[in-house]
Amino acid sequence: MARTFTEQRLVLATQNAGKLVEIKALMAPLGVDVVSSGELGLPEPVEDGDSFVANAALKAKAAVDATGFPALADDSGIEVFGLDRQPGIYSARWSGPDRDFGLAMARVHRELVERYGDFQQADKRARFVALLCLAWPDGHQEFAEGEVMGELVYPPRGTGGFGYDPIFLPEGQTKTFGEMLDSEKSQLSHRARAMATLIETCFGGRTSPPPTPTT
Ligand code: IMP
Repeated sequence: MARTFTEQRLVLATQNAGKLVEIKALMAPLGVDVVSSGELGLPEPVEDGDSFVANAALKAKAAVDATGFPALADDSGIEVFGLDRQPGIYSARWSGPDRDFGLAMARVHRELVERYGDFQQADKRARFVALLCLAWPDGHQEFAEGEVMGELVYPPRGTGGFGYDPIFLPEGQTKTFGEMLDSEKSQLSHRARAMATLIETCFGGRTSPPPTPTT
């Protein structure tokens, strides 16, 4: 049985501005005070887990340990089928020390061309994955996963979103995530799907703040 979140405040364990904007928007209807680890000046833990689950758990735990409040962490990434599902958990690392996602997208393109000889011939199928971990100070943790399938395009298209959004064309769509409005991406993203599951399991499916007690 999943634990229900009844507290008023939650730390969002991320320093990634793109994730922060998206998760805050997805949580807005819940009526929970959300403050990020970046806003609190918390250090970023070393992400040395070997899976999305392990990294989400360690990020959430680090924020709980530092603040004493429940924390929500997102570990996510893109898996490119033609590259044996790389970069996966190393998606952020492929952007280098300067977090340059132009470089990361160019690397994906280059490696596909090296492997297949031509980008158009490559297996361009890709999937975004988001793994959420909601952790409490007593050590309890709940997890939720979301994914979205799609295909890579190159060169990048659009300036919206973050990370690999400009080269990801979600299945059945004509616009990349980079060309979509935030409100369009949030209809179908991996993160939105993971949040929907978490809201269902830990927030009683609520889409509005809980009623204020009258007595
Ligand atoms: P991490 O979860 O901190 O390891 O970072 C995940 C990385 O995956 C991000 O820095 C992005 O490069 C990539 N990523 C995760 N979600 C998205 C998304 O919604 N759009 C684009 N890139 C994403």
